[in-house]
Amino acid sequence: MMKKPVLWILFLVCIASIAIAQDPNAEKYALKINAKITKKHLSILASDKYEGRETGKRGAEMAATYISGEFKKLKLLAPVNGSYLQQVSLIETSMFVNSFEVNKNVLNEGKDFQFNGSGEARTIQATELLFLASGTELELKHDLSGKVVLINHDGQTGEIAKRLSFLKSKEPALILVINSEQNNSSLSHNSGRSLRVKNGSRESFPIKVYSPPVIQINPEIANLILKNSGFNYEKATSINTPILIQAELKLSYGPVQKEVLSSNVLGYLEGTDLKNELLVYSAHYDHIGLNSDGGKDKVFNGADDDGSGTSGVLAIARAFAKAKKEGNSPRRSILFMMFTGEEKNLLGSEYYSLNPVFPMANTITNLNIDMIGRTDFIYRNTPDSTNYLYLVGTDKLSTDLHKISDKANAIYTKLKLDYRHNAKDDPTQIYYWSDHYNFAKNGVPVIFYYNGKHEDYHKGSDEINKINFNLLSKRAQLAYYTGWDLVNRDNRPVMDVKK
Ligand SMILES: [Zn+2]
Repeated sequence: MMKKPVLWILFLVCIASIAIAQDPNAEKYALKINAKITKKHLSILASDKYEGRETGKRGAEMAATYISGEFKKLKLLAPVNGSYLQQVSLIETSMFVNSFEVNKNVLNEGKDFQFNGSGEARTIQATELLFLASGTELELKHDLSGKVVLINHDGQTGEIAKRLSFLKSKEPALILVINSEQNNSSLSHNSGRSLRVKNGSRESFPIKVYSPPVIQINPEIANLILKNSGFNYEKATSINTPILIQAELKLSYGPVQKEVLSSNVLGYLEGTDLKNELLVYSAHYDHIGLNSDGGKDKVFNGADDDGSGTSGVLAIARAFAKAKKEGNSPRRSILFMMFTGEEKNLLGSEYYSLNPVFPMANTITNLNIDMIGRTDFIYRNTPDSTNYLYLVGTDKLSTDLHKISDKANAIYTKLKLDYRHNAKDDPTQIYYWSDHYNFAKNGVPVIFYYNGKHEDYHKGSDEINKINFNLLSKRAQLAYYTGWDLVNRDNRPVMDVKK
C-alpha cells in the first residue's frame, strides 16, 4: 500500500518535467505543418504535368521553378548570388548509332529502327543471322555467343522483356526484334542515358559487363533483311525451328557526351545571435521521369519518392518563416535545400558538397527527408502502421544529435522510431544511399527520415492517392521539432563519435 503514493509522485514529477520541456512557440508553428499544406504542394509536384521530374528534363525544371516560387512567397532569402537556384553542371552520356546497314541499305534511327544499348564504342559486322522461333527450349540448345539473332516480338511486354534478358545471357553480338509497333515500344526507352557531376569526384562509370545491343525493326525492315534468304517475314514466322539466314549487316555505335544543366533549389532563413551557424533541411525534388513501360500511365509520379519529403520540407520552411515573421526567429540560420539528381546517384548533393554555399564547418546538422508519406511492407497490418518512422544516422557522428532527436519525439510527436536501418550490418546500407551522406562524409552530423520500401517504389503507381498526409505531416513535424531545438539551443551538437 505504501508504494502507490510514491509511484504517483514519480508520475506527477515526470508529467511536470515533460510539461516544462514543451515549448509553446514550437508547438504553435508546428500547426503550420499539416495535411492541407503538404497535400497542396504534392498535388502539384506529383501531377502528370511534371512528367516525373527527371533530372535535366522539363518536368524537373518546372519543379525547381515551383519550389523557388514557394520560397519567394515565404520571403526566404535567395542565397546563390541573389538566386534560389544553384546551377549544377552535369555530363550526360547517351548512346548514338553512327550507322546501321542491312544488305547495303542505310537505315534511319527512329524511323526504321530503335536502338537500345550501352557500353563502349563498337562495330558489329555479320554475313548471317539466326532467326529464332518463339520456343525457348530450342533457343536454349543453340550456341548464340557472338551471333546476330533475329526474334519476333510476340506477346506482352513483360514476356518479351523476360525473353530478351534470357537471350542476353547467351551473349549474342546483337539482338534484332521484329515489332510492328516499333515506334511506340517500351523497349526503345533511352536506356543508355547516364549522368555525372562535371568535374565531380567520380570521373565516369565504366560499364564492365558487355550487354548485347537490342535493335527493334518493323516487318518491312525484316523483309529487307530476309530478302536474299528465300524467306519473307510471314513465311519465316510460320516455321517453328531456328533458321540460318544469309544477310549482310553492319552496325556501328558508341557513347556521346554533352553538358546538361540542372539546379538545386536553396531558400535561406537568417538567424539572430548565432546566425553564422547553419542547419540544413533537405529533400530531393527529382524523380525518374516518364514511364514508357506503363501503358496508359506514362508518368513516374514519385509522390512518395520524394514528393513527400519535398512537400514536408516546404511545410517546415513555412513554419519557421511564420515564426520569424512573428518575432520568434531561430537563433541559428536555416537552409532549406531541394536537391536535383538524387535518383542519378546523389548528384545534386555531391555538387553542393563540392561547391557549398555556406561553409560545411558551420553546418551543424543536415536533416534529410526521403519518403515519408507511406507505410512499408514491414509495418503494414501492424498496430504502428501509421505511427512509425525509420531514423538513420542519428548517432553516427554525434550522440548529442541522437538525444536531441529522441527528446523531440518523446515530448511532441511520439512516433515509434525504428533504428534497424541505422545498424552497421543493415542489409540496405541506406545510410550511404541518400543525399545526407554527402554531408556525413564531410563531417556534418545527419538524420535521415524514411518510411521504408513499398510495392510502388520506383513504379508508375507511386501516386498521390496512396499518400497518408496526416502521417506525412506528423513525420515532418518530428524533423521540425528536432530542428527547432537544434537552431535555438546554446551549443551545437558535439561531434563525439570516433570513427
Ligand atoms: Zn528518393
